[in-house]
Amino acid sequence: MSNQSIGLDQRLYDYLLSATLRETDLLAQLRYETAAHAQARMQISPEQGQFMALLVQLIGAKKTLEIGVFTGYSALVVAQALPEDGQVIACDVSEEYTAIALSYWQKANVAHKIDLRIAPALDTLDGLIAAGESGTFDFAFVDADKSNYDNYYERALQLIRPGGLIAVDNTLWYGRVADPDVQDNRTKRIRALNEKVQGDKRVNMSLVPIGDGLLLAVKNN
Ligand code: CA
Repeated sequence: MSNQSIGLDQRLYDYLLSATLRETDLLAQLRYETAAHAQARMQISPEQGQFMALLVQLIGAKKTLEIGVFTGYSALVVAQALPEDGQVIACDVSEEYTAIALSYWQKANVAHKIDLRIAPALDTLDGLIAAGESGTFDFAFVDADKSNYDNYYERALQLIRPGGLIAVDNTLWYGRVADPDVQDNRTKRIRALNEKVQGDKRVNMSLVPIGDGLLLAVKNN
């Protein structure tokens, strides 16, 4: 259920895809391959991928961050939307999942735009900050372990430029955020981040109910 926008009935969702999706054959192949995987629900939905590519184009992004790669669908759609000298610094801890990602990035001829860093994402992000790269990124996509969502948001906010965009995935969390009976740690972390960003004067924000909820935050000057 995470692989399509929540809250739409099946007929309307099918219409949305058939009338508006521009997914390439290669992206569709990657999506079908990933759907067979045990962790398939970690895959973003195709209409969300298309929306993120549009956002990247809209802000004229060149230098981007991806926190949580999985099998590489989102990095691929973003990389395709970047100019030829664009860059994705892609953070993940799994060699196994990202091996699939790498093979598709190569097939799509965007591997040269994607710098995969296999390490805990916080280490990679802190390394970028220590190397003086704060304020140099245009876009960041946060889609990794929910326990660190606030840490990823804070690092991403530091690393993007004023006018840069952070997109945080799964912020409607299968609807669990709205259920007061759900009090597990991950749900609480996501709820806390949504509330924090709502009141965060450092950004302008909107939570878009596409996919499993995509929280958008633009860094103010
Ligand atoms: Ca996700």
